[in-house]
Amino acid sequence: MTTSKTSARITPRELPYSYTALLPEISEETMRFHHDKHYEGYVKKLNELIEGTPYEGHTPCEILLRSEGAVFNNAAQIWNHEFYFEQLAPVPQTAPTGDLLRAVEEAFGSTEELIKQMNLAAAGLFGSGWIWLVKDAGGKLSIVSEPNAGNPLCRQLTPLICIDVWEHAYYIDYRNRRPDAIAALWNRLDWHVVEERYAL
Ligand code: MN
Repeated sequence: MTTSKTSARITPRELPYSYTALLPEISEETMRFHHDKHYEGYVKKLNELIEGTPYEGHTPCEILLRSEGAVFNNAAQIWNHEFYFEQLAPVPQTAPTGDLLRAVEEAFGSTEELIKQMNLAAAGLFGSGWIWLVKDAGGKLSIVSEPNAGNPLCRQLTPLICIDVWEHAYYIDYRNRRPDAIAALWNRLDWHVVEERYAL
């Protein structure tokens, strides 16, 4: 038996780009706080919470689907942040194409309208949380607002895009101007990643 507690620990993922790669929309300071302090903080906390419990050795996705309270909050925040960072890119594909574009047009009329509606949802979410573009079992798209660590996987929906509206995601760069931070984020969204998520 070579399994050790160390190997069962969840390890944080590296950013898929450099800390300065998303300038000017997102500063190096925000990236360092967001990834190294907040995201890695959730990983550290979850490892503490699950040590010696039946959750140990499971992935954040497996854990968030069958937990609640602090364990859920930290597992979901790990999953949400990995999904958030991985959809952004220094040189993104700037618009959806193909099957995803058709689904966007069917649900919202246009990509511009989808972005407008997600921006409105982000501005309207009181306090901390996430705005999601999701796909249901029939392939239909919709927008979901989740408070705190909420994740649409818990409602059998497939996440395609997430917008982090926790203040830690934007306060260093944009202070109280959440709508400006969200508007800028679209410049860095890689629609190629969203298309891959939609095709799954
Ligand atoms: Mn965050």
